[in-house]
Amino acid sequence: MNATNPVRTSPPEAVGDLMSYLDSSASPFHAADNARQRLLTAGFTEVDRRDPWHELPQCGVLVQAGALIAWQLAPEASASTGFRIIGAHTDSPCLRIKPRPDLQRHGWRQLGVEVYGGVLLNSWLDRDLGIAGRVLSHDGHSTLVEIRRPVARVPQLAIHLDRGVNDQGLRLDPQQHLTPVWGSGRAGNGDFESWLAQECSIDAPSWWELCLFDLQPAAVIGADASLLASGRLDNLVSCWAGIDALIAASNAPSTQHHRLIVLNDHEEVGSQSASGASGPLLEQVLERIVTHLGGSRDDLFRSLAHSVCVSADNAHAVHPNYSERHDPEHAPLVNRGPAIKINSNQRYATSAESATIFEQACRDASVPSQVFVSRNNMPCGSTIGPLTATRLGIATVDVGVPQLSMHSARELCGIDDPVHLRDALIAYLSA
Ligand code: ZN
Repeated sequence: MNATNPVRTSPPEAVGDLMSYLDSSASPFHAADNARQRLLTAGFTEVDRRDPWHELPQCGVLVQAGALIAWQLAPEASASTGFRIIGAHTDSPCLRIKPRPDLQRHGWRQLGVEVYGGVLLNSWLDRDLGIAGRVLSHDGHSTLVEIRRPVARVPQLAIHLDRGVNDQGLRLDPQQHLTPVWGSGRAGNGDFESWLAQECSIDAPSWWELCLFDLQPAAVIGADASLLASGRLDNLVSCWAGIDALIAASNAPSTQHHRLIVLNDHEEVGSQSASGASGPLLEQVLERIVTHLGGSRDDLFRSLAHSVCVSADNAHAVHPNYSERHDPEHAPLVNRGPAIKINSNQRYATSAESATIFEQACRDASVPSQVFVSRNNMPCGSTIGPLTATRLGIATVDVGVPQLSMHSARELCGIDDPVHLRDALIAYLSA
């Protein structure tokens, strides 16, 4: 390793822990449930939205479908004490199984799927796919389901039958070309449902929200073992970093502010849902906490005015084969720390004030940081950050681990950056 390479400091156990979170969180429901389990193990207490909150725990966790909110209240807080918030999202673009999926064509049994979010379609071809999500029985009981063996595959057309593919590019019609095969022979109506019932020991599955996922587990790659390849890096890396930071920081409660993480679902499809960032979940929890502490609506607004949010969602690292797609002065590199994302047109919520807070957290944690601004001639993505800032008026900074292949079935980042993000978030919560 030459002198220009950063010193690799990631503890292998932290990277291993992230990999196990990635592998076990193949759907948003699993991502939220695994986060919940980790917090319960660390001593957090589960709270139900439907219950009255007479006895609000100091360290609480609440799950709603694929979303989660967890908090640690400041000891001796006043009703207007502010929150240090971390936001991330649990969902990733994928293929989802339709309600009536059974298809039979030319000797193949196939599953009808719906495209969820901005999928990089070609990345789903020729992969061994498992199934994960939740299944509801007729009585409304919800069961988490994970079938971790190769069940389905979207086969690519042979080059002999598509001679121009390498010159003219691959064109995929999402309705026609992404339908996976999952067997041969004859399909009957209700085949998938009865197979699912048997696989999950559920008597009568009535409705499901099931994602296909790539079975290849997360792997450390590169001759120097400096890179991490996995599905769903966007945005489970940030979920993992936020959960780990809250648990690590919870050993030393802050007297200055409450700490809270919110992991929303449905970011990849616009966040407009009950468990998405445009929904009322965060707002309701904040209001209920302030009310529980004896606060009025005025106290709630004062608390929000004292609050800050770090919206963590992966960023685009500069791709060595497409470096012209980045602004040369604002192109994040892998393993050089989380990127602070700036967009004057407010696609990102970062302000000079909120950027200062996160940069200081990086300095406190001895973590490098970078800045991302997209090219003026390249539209820029967005995150849950501007939604939180707009809904609640909380100062928000958008940050993220730089990665390649965003929205591919298998993405790539550096192994140091997730740990850098976590350490910066610990410092942010502990300030
Ligand atoms: Zn994302």
